[in-house]
Amino acid sequence: MTDKIWAHSGDSHFLEPDDLWHQIMPASQADRMPRTSRISEDEELVEVDGKSFTRKLPKVMTAKNAATGETIAEMSHRPPGARDVKLRLEDLDEEGIWGEVMYQSIGMWCSLIEDRKLIAEAARAENEWLVSEILPAAPDRLVPAALMPMLDVDDAIAELQHAKDIGLYIASLPSGRPPGREDWNHKEWDPLWAAAEEADMVIGFHIGTSGDQVKYRGRGGALINYVDSVQDGQYAAMKLVASGVFERCPGLKVLVSEAGATWVPYMGDKLNEAYRQHAMFVYPPLAKAPKEYLYSNVYASFQHDETAPAAMAAMGYPNVMFGSDYPHLEGTYGHTQKTLHEIFHGVAPEVRDRITRGTFEELFPHVSAPPS
Ligand code: MN
Repeated sequence: MTDKIWAHSGDSHFLEPDDLWHQIMPASQADRMPRTSRISEDEELVEVDGKSFTRKLPKVMTAKNAATGETIAEMSHRPPGARDVKLRLEDLDEEGIWGEVMYQSIGMWCSLIEDRKLIAEAARAENEWLVSEILPAAPDRLVPAALMPMLDVDDAIAELQHAKDIGLYIASLPSGRPPGREDWNHKEWDPLWAAAEEADMVIGFHIGTSGDQVKYRGRGGALINYVDSVQDGQYAAMKLVASGVFERCPGLKVLVSEAGATWVPYMGDKLNEAYRQHAMFVYPPLAKAPKEYLYSNVYASFQHDETAPAAMAAMGYPNVMFGSDYPHLEGTYGHTQKTLHEIFHGVAPEVRDRITRGTFEELFPHVSAPPS
């Protein structure tokens, strides 16, 4: 390992302060918002608007590669900058990450809120907090994702426009169908896609935001669930392609975070095959082959996938993007440089530059260039 490889990250996360809602909302509303508390060594209690459930936390905080015994991550503490933006920038500099999309953490539980007014006001308050308290630390590097109220289409459009107005560039949507609403291929969402295109707001689908992540148990469960959990993000993009959303909104850009990269050529092949061989069943007809929409409008971030550069270099998919998944266990914190050097060993410089920088800068041109 010699030179530092700088990369942007299309997949990072920020941990909000425990008392965030009380900082930014009236107490009567804040009390109903998601909060987590540690109830034992390996369990936390999640409470949201009168509902609660417990959640297992990793007991062993050192991750070792099961095959080689190599230590992958030391998680005895969360990375220092997980919830402190000044320390975060020190972590990023150390790891070689420059710009990054930051998804919320506590916002993940907001999909459990069933009160339309409450979630709309919470999203507005969190997005304003992101802009006033987090973004000023490095407005040319940090790209916080807007929390979105998804119980009503008009509320979603209003918050998307508000988020854009106050200086956010990406709106985070759940990868699966929002509770009580139609799925992403349904026409009820068409006004939201049109609004995102009009506002030049990227739509972010982060994997694992569609509900229960432990579907399989017993032998092989950890591996099976892990692979299964990335499908919801991939399917969200597929639903938009298949239902003609990108034909009606050619300027709409969608980022699928943490689902890898080579799934895009694979899914494009299958969509094209279906479109050709099942043409008599296909509705709506599309002006271009489905794969062309995937390749032009969908962007994909990966962390460790050693085949990711081939998605671009060998399979012609240009929108491959690195993602560190900071500060999560699935991410590259502590070994980002090692991972980048391994992945890009022997890869052409133009492919490396596109994956580490160019793809991200195409989505977020306001982000500055890393040190050279
Ligand atoms: Mn992530």
